[in-house]
Amino acid sequence: MDAMEKIVSLCKRRGFIFPSSEIYGGLNGAWDYGPLGVELKRNLKQAWWDDMVAHHDETATPQGAPQPFGMVGLDSSLLMNPKVWEASGHVGGFSDPMVDDRETRARYRADQLAVYALEFIGSDGKLERYDEVLFAAPGELGKSTPTELFEPHRKRISGLQKSKPGKEARPVAVPGALQDETLRARVLAPGASAPGTLTAPRAFNLMFKTHVGALEDNQSVTYLRPETAQGIFVNFKNVTDTTRVRVPFGIGQIGKAFRNEINPRNFTFRSREFEQMEIEFFCRASEAAQWYQFWRERRFQWYLDLGMKPSNLHLREHEASELAHYAAGCADVEYDFPFGRSELEGIANRTDFDLRQHMQMSGKDLRYFDDQEPNEEARRFLPHVIEPSAGADRGTLAFLCDAYSEDEVGGEARTVLRLHPRLAPIKAAVFPLVKKEGMPEKALEIYRALKKRFTVYYDEKGAIGRRYRRQDEAGTPFCITVDGDTLSAGSVTVRERDSCEQTRVGISELGDVLSARLGI
Ligand code: ATP
Repeated sequence: MDAMEKIVSLCKRRGFIFPSSEIYGGLNGAWDYGPLGVELKRNLKQAWWDDMVAHHDETATPQGAPQPFGMVGLDSSLLMNPKVWEASGHVGGFSDPMVDDRETRARYRADQLAVYALEFIGSDGKLERYDEVLFAAPGELGKSTPTELFEPHRKRISGLQKSKPGKEARPVAVPGALQDETLRARVLAPGASAPGTLTAPRAFNLMFKTHVGALEDNQSVTYLRPETAQGIFVNFKNVTDTTRVRVPFGIGQIGKAFRNEINPRNFTFRSREFEQMEIEFFCRASEAAQWYQFWRERRFQWYLDLGMKPSNLHLREHEASELAHYAAGCADVEYDFPFGRSELEGIANRTDFDLRQHMQMSGKDLRYFDDQEPNEEARRFLPHVIEPSAGADRGTLAFLCDAYSEDEVGGEARTVLRLHPRLAPIKAAVFPLVKKEGMPEKALEIYRALKKRFTVYYDEKGAIGRRYRRQDEAGTPFCITVDGDTLSAGSVTVRERDSCEQTRVGISELGDVLSARLGI
């Protein structure tokens, strides 16, 4: 099993993540969080909410910030007036061109399907081109290796190779092959029996359409939101009119988003239903560049503070050619997943694009009024926006991957999730060493007292070593064992997950000791 398969299997086996509606064969791109997974994901969202919104101190200047700033929260609806999505550009532009295979029924993003001819090169450097059949394979010419690109057509290509002894085959790009009808007829798709089964690329809107009300006509169309951000923009005026926040300030929101992804893959990484944790931070245009730098660093540091290994985390500034036409800057926080380096969060300087669009579309004046600005001309303005946009499911997956490890304890192999205590689904497990001599009763008493303060778990079944292993796999930082000395000495052993070190702690201090060691 490769690393990702092991993580997927642990998630299933221990109740972190299940395929959605599994008894009916599942639904591609949809996932359910089980008893351990729901705690983990909730802890991640809670950590974000506490650190970014609820516990934010608007009277202090955070490190690296130009000045103190306010933060408030929001919970906007999933269904919105469809004009929102016209103004945001999602109705017109939120689409990826895709191609379908009429034979295999597979669907591909056109930009993620490489089409190539073969070139055979002899030791004398002479080239011989074979383009009677063109091959299509997931990947990108120049980025994917020839082996990866040849993989879906291995048999056919090695057959051709045999007819040209001493020559090496390599893929060469055939630009525009999917767009051109004649060329497309020669393209052999992965798994297809003959060339010519692919459709021309078609724009495919990623928004899920639905209807509100009883009539299913054009008037009743709306969409499941593809991001939480627009809910914040359309409430910008409501928030400034009803609270004391003043620019610069941010609005945070956590909620579901839906995208009809062409190719959901890599477990929960690319799902069709997922949760986002987004901030829209409003500031003056002249200060936007500074705030952009601040949010890049702050959001990157947040993952490190929650224990993510620095060697797995990267901050990548986008090239100018990658930027959306309205954006003045964008950086991705990327994580080294077992399937490759991929985006965890994007931080973008969106200028005043969104507020301006909504102001035009709605006809409402969304400008901010700064009554303390002495210069009358500068009092009314459209704020610029910095947007740190994170995925709760991608974050959960990254923390699971980062925490997963295998080691040996006392000559025995174990799997352990080294999750940060704030994220761990269960903070401590309580065990009686054996199921007699009053130990279960005492352990239950301790469990019930701790349960009032922490998420704790009681287990009396099986050998103590196996119970430790089960908790290691669940990422539980501490195991508390009631043993023969507990009744007389009034103390228990506390075993730490990562070091497996055991210390004796008095029962009366247990809650406070745990709280201090967990840092919560
Ligand atoms: P990608 O390029 O991977 O499709 P994106 O750049 O379109 O992502 P954004 O629109 O910037 O993503 O969304 C912000 C965040 O929302 C992403 O960084 C990611 O964490 C999360 N996200 C976006 N699409 C998905 C998805 N299909 N499944 C899970 N999380 C997602």
